[in-house]
Amino acid sequence: MLAALALAAASVATEPARCQRELVVLGAGQDAGAPQIGNVGDEGPDLWPSALALVDRENGQRYLFDATPAITAQLALLDRIEPPAQGLGIDGIFLTHAHIGHYLGLAWLGREAAGASGVPVYAMPRMAEFLRGNGPWSQLAELGNIALTKMAASEFTVLSDEFGVMPILVPHRDEYSETVGFFIMTPDQTALYVPDLDSWDEFAEASGQSLEDLVEGFDLLFLDATFWNDGELEGRDMSAIPHPRVKATMERLADLDAETRGKVHFIHYNHTNPIRDPASAESRAVEDSGFNVARRSDRFCLSE
Ligand SMILES: [Zn+2]
Ligand SMILES: [Zn+2]
Repeated sequence: MLAALALAAASVATEPARCQRELVVLGAGQDAGAPQIGNVGDEGPDLWPSALALVDRENGQRYLFDATPAITAQLALLDRIEPPAQGLGIDGIFLTHAHIGHYLGLAWLGREAAGASGVPVYAMPRMAEFLRGNGPWSQLAELGNIALTKMAASEFTVLSDEFGVMPILVPHRDEYSETVGFFIMTPDQTALYVPDLDSWDEFAEASGQSLEDLVEGFDLLFLDATFWNDGELEGRDMSAIPHPRVKATMERLADLDAETRGKVHFIHYNHTNPIRDPASAESRAVEDSGFNVARRSDRFCLSE
């Protein structure tokens, strides 16, 4: 009996610390994923559109950042990492903006698919109006599949004593909605998710914060890496196409120390971006420069 108790105590003592709050990369591609529609013969690694999940084990909750067209597979991936406490197991979805890779997945909460009940969807005011005012999204709200909750720029949505989320406005093509990135706060670590923006200079002009300030200020950053460099889209003049280029972002941050550079994870890469392939010279160049490429299934413990 005593031996059994001692054994039990020992096994508890040696169990690895459980991660209480963990970020999981559910996808790292641009909106259209890869292979992209119409690209015959694309044999490169497949990509799902960018999304993160936050698993809060202490409170038995799971949150999504962006609802992509690949939400079915992405939720299944999350279920393998942390099964839902009950039902669908989505305690909230934070939407960055109304471009296809970032919100179409909401459709799978409706009656043709999950038939969800009251999933909190956190959206900026224009984004919330857009969903409320246009089918099929309006039906999700009317039937109560989703519960739209408005956020305000630079104001925290407090989800528990240990977890809050703040939207940060970023410059982008805002046809239907504002565009935000998310500041994810836990007592131990902070993360920033900015999958989509036009330029860091415009962001600095509008916010007074440079990219360098952001990288210094957060513990973990997931940043727009849509294109590697100009010339990537064959036959198109890319000077008019926004998005910071990965190459330029790395040059801009080259003077930061290695530990600081290591906080940056590139995400939202286009099917044409060579960092899509982990074996490419460009992926190696990112790593050799001390940065990271976010990959589907990457996991980061924010608090133990
Ligand atoms: Zn996008
Ligand atoms: Zn976009």
